[in-house]
Amino acid sequence: MITIIDSAACCGCTACVNICPVQCIVMRRDREGFDYPLANPDRCIGCGKCESVCPVLEPLEPRRPLAVMGGRSDEFVEESASGGVFPYVARRVIGNGGVVFGAAVEDDMTVAHCEAGSMEEVNRFRGPKYVQSELYAAFEDVHDRLCEGMEVLFSGTPCQVAGLRKYLDKKAHELDLSSLVTVDFACHGVPGPGLWEKYAVSMERAYGSGMTGVKFRDKKRSWFHYDVVYEFAGSADGNSVARDDGACSSSVRRKYVEDPYMALFVQDMTLRPSCYKCPVRCGLSGSDLTLADLWSVRQSMPRLDDDRGASLVLVNTEKGRMLLEGLVLEELVPELAMGNNGGFAESVPVPERRKEFFDSLDSAGDLQSYMSGFVRRGALPKRIARAVRAALVGLKRRIMR
Ligand SMILES: Cc1cc2nc3c(=O)[nH]c(=O)nc-3n(C[C@H](O)[C@H](O)[C@H](O)COP(=O)(O)OP(=O)(O)OC[C@H]3O[C@@H](n4cnc5c(N)ncnc54)[C@H](O)[C@@H]3O)c2cc1C
Ligand code: SF4
Ligand code: SF4
Ligand code: SF4
Repeated sequence: MITIIDSAACCGCTACVNICPVQCIVMRRDREGFDYPLANPDRCIGCGKCESVCPVLEPLEPRRPLAVMGGRSDEFVEESASGGVFPYVARRVIGNGGVVFGAAVEDDMTVAHCEAGSMEEVNRFRGPKYVQSELYAAFEDVHDRLCEGMEVLFSGTPCQVAGLRKYLDKKAHELDLSSLVTVDFACHGVPGPGLWEKYAVSMERAYGSGMTGVKFRDKKRSWFHYDVVYEFAGSADGNSVARDDGACSSSVRRKYVEDPYMALFVQDMTLRPSCYKCPVRCGLSGSDLTLADLWSVRQSMPRLDDDRGASLVLVNTEKGRMLLEGLVLEELVPELAMGNNGGFAESVPVPERRKEFFDSLDSAGDLQSYMSGFVRRGALPKRIARAVRAALVGLKRRIMR
């Protein structure tokens, strides 16, 4: 029976919850705002399935990518996080009559995995959500669609993909998984849903209006900078816009350093404990494709160096390679392309003040100012500093040309 003694040893993938034959495991939120499985010993029949599907207890085999590529989809780049490779592959699956699973912001501002059968629905998955998404019954739904003979694309964090693969292997080893494709991304970590929900409420209080949308990373000003944009119903500030239906909506744009939620995420303060010891780095997720920001664009692919965004693509399987057909990508030197990008091999270190931050969170009066008090001014985390340094080197070269 699964028992969580060390919170860093559970990434919250829900594989154990979904596999339990007597449904005696539920996800429970801890005081830091992360969800963990809790098994009921009175109902447990001791089958051991929960332990066998856990990607932390029984990891998949490490792999090296077949190819490291760079590029983007000109059609999708604007509204996507990096180069829009995800919607490109999603469209192929939708075109074949398949379905796509991904993370979307719901109407109540929570982030959850949903199923999409059209590109209109897939559009909700585009752009990063810097919150651990709720999976609910997504693994079971993927299983059901595969049983119905449908092609399925599942996109998520590497630990979600690893959990899904382990769950499917155990749940249905006779099931043909050739119609399943999985896409993950270079992931340095996720904040918990509990903190995000509290923060959204504090923003609504601060602006005196209900939040109707959030873009955790808006590229209008620049791809290199992380701007966050909040949408509110009604007139929350001077940026209000009259809508066609006569109502008012307004948006608030902040640079990441000015927004305590984003600043603490970028500074790794609010990540899940497992992210500091990530169990699925180095290809351990079993995904077909791994996507990332091509931070070395100025050195690796100068023709795409226009601040619109570019993707680094790790082709892990032949199935993944087939999905990319028709997209113009270039093979890159792995060390150069991946060198500036955290999230592949190393986990980030636990920030010194993380414990203090979560210990006093519940007693914080005004959340915005409490969180602002933990934002480090000036010093950028190493992985972001590396990317900025690479960008500046490229810029210097261009000036000298
Ligand atoms: C929490 C998080 C941390 C990241 N850390 C890094 C990093 O350290 N280095 C790096 O290079 N790139 C990182 N990325 C990935 C990068 O920002 C892009 O998401 C990725 O390159 C895909 O870009 P795209 O333009 O192809 O996809 P888009 O069209 O923007 O699609 C986004 C995809 O990400 C999925 N997704 C978004 N948010 C979540 C979530 N919360 N949980 C699960 N799936 C989600 C969606 O389902 C969709 O498939 C991170 C992304 C997230 C969400
Ligand atoms: S051992 Fe079996 S019955 Fe018990 S919690 Fe795990 S999966 Fe459920
Ligand atoms: S990592 Fe996944 S399978 Fe393992 S205990 Fe946590 S939720 Fe369960
Ligand atoms: S860093 Fe690792 S454990 Fe954390 S969300 Fe990403 S894949 Fe999961």
